[in-house]
Amino acid sequence: MDSSEQRNVLVTGGNRGIGLAIARAFEAAGDRVVITYRSGEPPEGLTGVKAEVTDSASVDNAFTEAEKIFGGPVDVVVANAGITRDTLLMRMSDEDFDAVIDTNLAGAFRCARRAVTGMIRKRRGRIILISSVVGLYGSPGQTNYAASKSGLVGLARSISRELGGRGITANVVAPGFIDTEMTAVLPEEQKKAYLATIPAGRFATPEEVAAVVRFIASDEAAYITGAVIPVDGGLGMGH
Ligand code: NDP
Repeated sequence: MDSSEQRNVLVTGGNRGIGLAIARAFEAAGDRVVITYRSGEPPEGLTGVKAEVTDSASVDNAFTEAEKIFGGPVDVVVANAGITRDTLLMRMSDEDFDAVIDTNLAGAFRCARRAVTGMIRKRRGRIILISSVVGLYGSPGQTNYAASKSGLVGLARSISRELGGRGITANVVAPGFIDTEMTAVLPEEQKKAYLATIPAGRFATPEEVAAVVRFIASDEAAYITGAVIPVDGGLGMGH
């Protein structure tokens, strides 16, 4: 691949878990990658910029820094940063609800909003929002998380309708259960119960999500927009 074909890829929350696997996959394919992180150091071999996705100024700064590193606008943004604050509806505080919406949904909005300025100028761009099977399937104890993740579908579809004519696609990737720190904290009993409902009979690796994200970002996927692409071993079939 010559350097004019390399894309400028920004992955939020790319310091660990699914985001890190996505960043590594783009890098392995020869793209220029910048990840965002909040504390410590970026993972070895990856360039990082600090970003707090609940803060518009911080997102803006991260993009500005990334653009300096790339020497041009971001072509592919992967809004991956996300949190859970699980508890039953009756016990859920306003703060638990708001924090999850602010990070998972408004965080993705802030990144997409900042990204499109450069994409419109270049008349190309890929916006990829990392949702969850839970967004459309629902999950007890995750009203905040499910609401935030289904909100991403409306966000991506509206961006598709606004900017589809400018060479920009916006899609949602909806992973099922993936082996990361987020799922490592689940009680064994709960993991067993989840496993029993997954047709593939296993959790996925972060690399399996990364491969799909990379395809959605490719030139071959130019006609896919406003789609929800599951990577869930069949868990969410029909949802
Ligand atoms: P991890 O908990 O392993 O990583 C989450 C990442 O998001 C970290 O890099 C974290 O940064 C970052 N992050 C969280 N809050 C913020 C914030 N306010 N500002 C900036 N960065 C933030 O999660 P996973 O890798 O498992 O999940 C990644 C995405 O995939 C999430 O959106 C999640 O909802 C989704 N997902 C995960 C599934 C799974 O089974 N694991 C299934 C379906 C969807 P820091 O290190 O600083 O905390």
